[in-house]
This record gives sequence, structure tokens and C-alpha cells, in this order.
Amino acid sequence: MDLLKVESVEAGYGLIQVLWRTSIIVEENQCVVLLGVNGAGKTTLLRTIIGLVEATKGDIVFDGENITGLKPNVRVSRGIAYMSELAVVPDLTVEENLKLGGYVKNRDDTRRMADKAYEYFPDLKAYRTRKAASLSGGQRKMLGVAKTLMSNPKILVMDEPSSGLSPKFVKKVIEILKLLYEEERPSMLIAEQNVAFLDLAQKIYILDKGKVTFTGSVNALKENDTIRETYFGIMH
Ligand code: ATP
Repeated sequence: MDLLKVESVEAGYGLIQVLWRTSIIVEENQCVVLLGVNGAGKTTLLRTIIGLVEATKGDIVFDGENITGLKPNVRVSRGIAYMSELAVVPDLTVEENLKLGGYVKNRDDTRRMADKAYEYFPDLKAYRTRKAASLSGGQRKMLGVAKTLMSNPKILVMDEPSSGLSPKFVKKVIEILKLLYEEERPSMLIAEQNVAFLDLAQKIYILDKGKVTFTGSVNALKENDTIRETYFGIMH
């Protein structure tokens, strides 16, 4: 079943239009990777999905409901969790970041979800009173994923989980997301430039200058010469 449907959405910043009739679908329990070079519009698309950027045209349908006009916090309470490139609030402690991620839930739920997050990410438990700013880049991304899980979302929408990470940590983040997917089967929409994330993908979209230029499987992607050269030649 389709969980998230972005239908012919247009969006941008004032006079600058970034998305041009962009359409994507994420099904229930599906992991979708959105590839695109710098400036392709990936962040703008994710921010439009969560409601931080307004869709000037088109519709966003989530779990059968048209959410185009809803505020970001309402979208979170509907089951969409968003991890920005920054992933965490650096000035807050690990525990405070987790509480923030669970703000749409009541206190008991938040406690339960935090315990679960610490199970997944045992390192974080040891650092619970430390400021997020003092964590390593990899730990910060782990905290970002844990924070995102705190609202018990139906879909995790993640903006470049690899950004700022060394290849070793990129591998670790991918492993954690794989484990999370195997155990919980959340739907995921991951915007990335790093093709290592294709390991997770059941469907790929390529965004180029705000337009979807490819939709398909990893195999189909690898069979396309132009795309292979662009993404597997330049990107790493
Ligand atoms: P990156 O990987 O570099 O974040 P991206 O694919 O996520 O790239 P966006 O950040 O969505 O791309 O940017 C798409 C276009 O929108 C770019 O041309 C960018 O300069 C422009 N843009 C992004 N944010 C703003 C803003 N706040 N105001 C004006 N233009 C913006």
C-alpha cells in the first residue's frame, strides 16, 4: 500500500522555484533512496514533505490523508519523522534530544521509546547527560536516528545521514539502519549522494534540477550508462 505520495509538487524559496512537478511514492515497509547531486533539490523535497517548505502546487498524501496544508508538528503526530542534515540539537544533551524527538508522545511513551533507543544505541546511554555537540559525527547521526524514532513514526525521512561522516561511520550508520529495518520494517525515505546507501534501497529516485529523472531498482540504475557514469563515477 502507498504510504507517502508526493503528487506533482512544486516548491521553492520566494521567486526561486526548486521542485518542478515532482512526484514520488513510498510504500508501507519500503526503503526508498533519493539520489541527487548537490543542489538537486533533495533537501527542499524532504522539507516540503514535512511542511517546513510550502508546496505551491500539487499534493502530499500520507496514509490516505491529504496533508498538504498541515503544520509540521501535526505531520509528525501523523507518523512522519524527519531527520535534518544536522540531525540533532548540539546544545541539548543526548537525553534532551531524545525527549525532543518524542515531544508528540506522552511521558510514559517517551520513557519507553528512550529505553528502546538506548537498546539500539548502547553508546548513547553512557553519554545521556553529555551535550550532543560533544559527540563524534557518527554518534551524532546515531542520536539523530534515535531521536527520529522517538515519535514511533510510520516513516523515517532522513536528509543525508552520511554527511560529515568518515567512510567507517557511514558503514556503521548503514549497518544500524539495516538492522533497524530488519527488525521494525519502518518505511524510510533517505536523501543521499553516497551510493553506499543503495544497499538499503528497494526503490530509487534520482532528482535532477528539481525533477525526477529516474525511478527504479538498483539493478535498473546500474544498467543505465549515463546514470552509472554520473553516480558511480563521480560519487563514492
Ligand atoms: P545538498 O545536497 O547540497 O543539500 P540538495 O539536493 O539537498 O543539495 P537543496 O538544498 O534542496 O538541494 O537546494 C536546491 C536549490 O535550492 C539550490 O539551488 C539551492 O541553492 C536552493 N536553496 C536551498 N535553500 C534555499 C533557501 N533557503 N533560499 C533560497 N534558495 C535555496
